[in-house]
Amino acid sequence: MPCRLCSEAVAPLASEPPLDGYERCESCGYVQLRRELLPTPEAERARYLLHRNDPAEPGYRAWLGAFMDAFEPYLRAGVEILDFGSGPVPALGSVAAERGYGYAPYDPFFAPDGDWRSRAWEAIAVHEVAEHLAEPAAAFAELAAALAPGGVLALRTRYQPEGLEGFASWRYRQDSTHVGFFSSDCLGRAMNRLGLIRLYDDGREIAIYRREGSRA
Ligand SMILES: [Zn+2]
Repeated sequence: MPCRLCSEAVAPLASEPPLDGYERCESCGYVQLRRELLPTPEAERARYLLHRNDPAEPGYRAWLGAFMDAFEPYLRAGVEILDFGSGPVPALGSVAAERGYGYAPYDPFFAPDGDWRSRAWEAIAVHEVAEHLAEPAAAFAELAAALAPGGVLALRTRYQPEGLEGFASWRYRQDSTHVGFFSSDCLGRAMNRLGLIRLYDDGREIAIYRREGSRA
């Protein structure tokens, strides 16, 4: 099975548990859970309902706020943000609304209206979603196509730790619905292939990309 991000060859990450279920792309460095280990949609949905998602909880609010702090310098005031993979509670929406932005959630399980595909978006958030994507190449291509010229895409997904030991003990990996892991570089290359240019990267988990062209 090839890399689900760039289609190049993958090799087993390790031969022993707990990492024997993963493959690493020899070309782009993406690490993916082997296809036969991907969760079923039913298991995925059940797990999402357990995610921490109360926007009134101060720690969670601050964490969402940090994402918006990174995103805001690239946003036009009041613009409507598409939240791709919004989850069971559109928590990012309440923070965005407090800051004066419009908000449109989309989620294959919880807000499945596909109308967003018929619009060109100036701003798209992919917040803690990329690590869940079973087909990241297809999803990123769809998102890039949904961006208006000059539109911005903000992602938050925790970058891979250094070394196999770091990976083995990494709690982020242990969520059963986290099926693919990026580095800053591997994410950047995937976006560049789609014509998106990096504007910002915190080196840890948040990156902002812009589609070429000027805003209308
Ligand atoms: Zn790859």
